[in-house]
Amino acid sequence: MRRRKTVFVDSDILVVGGGMGGCGATYESRYWGRDLKIVCVEKANIERSGAVAQGLYAINCYMGMHWNENQPEDHVRYARNDLMGLVREDLGYDIARHVDSTVHTFEEWGLPIMRDPKTGRYQREGKWQIMIHGESYKPIVAEAARKAATEVYNRIMVTHLLMDKARPNRVAGAVGFNVRTGNFYVFRAKAVIVAAGGASHIFKPRAVGEGMGRTWYAPWSSASAYALPILTGAKMTQMENRIVLTRFKDGYGPVGAYFLHLKTYTQNAYGQNYEATWYEHTKQLVGDYVDRHPVPTCLRNHALLEEVKAGRGPIRMVTKEAFQDPHNETVGWENFLGMTIGQAVVWASQNIDPKHINPELTTSEPYVMGSHATCSGAWASGPEDYAPSEYQWGYNRMMTVEGLFGAGDAIGGTAHKFSSGSFTEGRIAGKAAVRYVNEVGRQQPQLSEAECEDLKRTIYKPMETFEVGRNEIVAGTVSPSYILPIHGLQRLEKIMDEYVGGIGAHYTTNEPLLTRGLELLNMLKEDLAYLGAEDLHQLQRAWELHHRVLASECVTQHTLFRTETRWPGYYYRADHPKLDDKDWHCFTLSRYDQDSGKWAMEKAPVYHIVD
Ligand SMILES: Cc1cc2nc3c(=O)[nH]c(=O)nc-3n(C[C@H](O)[C@H](O)[C@H](O)COP(=O)(O)OP(=O)(O)OC[C@H]3O[C@@H](n4cnc5c(N)ncnc54)[C@H](O)[C@@H]3O)c2cc1C
Repeated sequence: MRRRKTVFVDSDILVVGGGMGGCGATYESRYWGRDLKIVCVEKANIERSGAVAQGLYAINCYMGMHWNENQPEDHVRYARNDLMGLVREDLGYDIARHVDSTVHTFEEWGLPIMRDPKTGRYQREGKWQIMIHGESYKPIVAEAARKAATEVYNRIMVTHLLMDKARPNRVAGAVGFNVRTGNFYVFRAKAVIVAAGGASHIFKPRAVGEGMGRTWYAPWSSASAYALPILTGAKMTQMENRIVLTRFKDGYGPVGAYFLHLKTYTQNAYGQNYEATWYEHTKQLVGDYVDRHPVPTCLRNHALLEEVKAGRGPIRMVTKEAFQDPHNETVGWENFLGMTIGQAVVWASQNIDPKHINPELTTSEPYVMGSHATCSGAWASGPEDYAPSEYQWGYNRMMTVEGLFGAGDAIGGTAHKFSSGSFTEGRIAGKAAVRYVNEVGRQQPQLSEAECEDLKRTIYKPMETFEVGRNEIVAGTVSPSYILPIHGLQRLEKIMDEYVGGIGAHYTTNEPLLTRGLELLNMLKEDLAYLGAEDLHQLQRAWELHHRVLASECVTQHTLFRTETRWPGYYYRADHPKLDDKDWHCFTLSRYDQDSGKWAMEKAPVYHIVD
């Protein structure tokens, strides 16, 4: 085995992932922990990493409390309604009450926020969204984190968390490798905050082959935020609640500004408004939830999917009317230029000028995340002043593992936090982690040297496997001794697509399919021992695949456990086609046991705190 240098880094607080949640955690940890050593570790470069890398055109979570536009309770009601009744109201309220101050801070740091010329207030795109010139959103936020951190380690892929040798349920740090130098890193920390984003590419995407990098959620969101805590035995929640998005076809361009600001609308291939057609049908499935305002995101998908299945696709967004106004036309294009420039390129390449042609919409493949109209993630302790006692076992945003915190996509039960809410949750987690370190975590945890050495061997093994196995073939990429990360990824996506409710199965699954899917996932897991990595870049792909596979298994277990169709439009349990409030108005929780490879499932109550 090639010798790899090991670098040891000691810290008080270790932040894994320097995206929106991670930057918020780093910034706030410094505010409360002036004398602490705060380290942020990121697999890319925080300057342009994470889901906001390319910039955004809107901040989707802003109350506007000082103008009396909305109150935190309103946001809880909104998120609860959108998630068909199931959100952690304590966590959501906690974000909503602090999110405005986050946004004001962004503005102080130089983020240009559009103003309504008549009122002087922030320009609203919708009830919760404000419009920004956000191409440089991420560099602005990253600068604050960089200044706050004792050190930022870019280009380090974290592969595993470490546990305290003396106290089995206490986190002790993390290990990973530098994707440029190949050095092995051991980070020891008194508290760890995981903010490693959501998961794309666990279900087969619509765009394959040369286009496979084009997904709605960032292609580099590789499920580490779930796999890292899962491996430590942290409880996860709502992992079945994958999200499907209605977006412009082929470029995944966002539709929010079009619907909300430009007041565009949809119609079927024959120019008809189809949503009303599916009202009675949907009511039979979900009851009164279809009458809620706004109509839950999944149910709007549902109407579109049914209309397409009935043979009246494609569904189009009517842009021709709005785009006659030159101001609207500019807004429509600029919306992509700051955020999803690829959509403008796709339209240009397909001869679509939305002023003259109504562009097609489609539904995406499913993603797993915790910050959008969905709430998968870790089960976290709630705020001391607001959470019911059953939701409190430690510090705010601490998972069920001691000293392990999370933010953003990593934390479950809190939908609709988006970029600003994820940063805010990072701040909340950072503050709580400082308190934890000061009150109970002052002593550095003990690492097991043997465990670190074992992990080092395991982490680089795909490179050894490749080096040896490569000699058995003279050309091509298919070897009898290893599978490449891309092969494993495609196999994973196929399993998830066909058995767990992806696009190829019309988002539909059932118990026999899920059971078979789990068998196939297990076989894939066995084969991951034979991953081959040609270089450090492929080694990163290999570990991203490990994380995606474990998160996928968790999604499948949760989907099997919840014997109802809670969110039609996101996925369907064909053997339990209706929403079942009697048995399933609850959270689903899982806990993975690494030694046995088994999952324990349970229900947890949903407490409605806001009326
Ligand atoms: C196309 C698109 C449009 C969106 N539109 C909006 C919008 O208009 N308004 C809005 O407010 N929000 C929007 N969002 C949502 C917003 O971007 C997310 O809610 C937010 O970024 C989530 O924050 P996070 O910290 O959980 O994840 P991220 O910001 O994605 O950060 C995760 C970080 O972890 C790093 N990482 C991952 N794995 C590892 C590992 N193993 N080791 C080390 N580092 C790792 C990643 O590189 C990344 O930097 C949009 C997102 C997308 C993709």
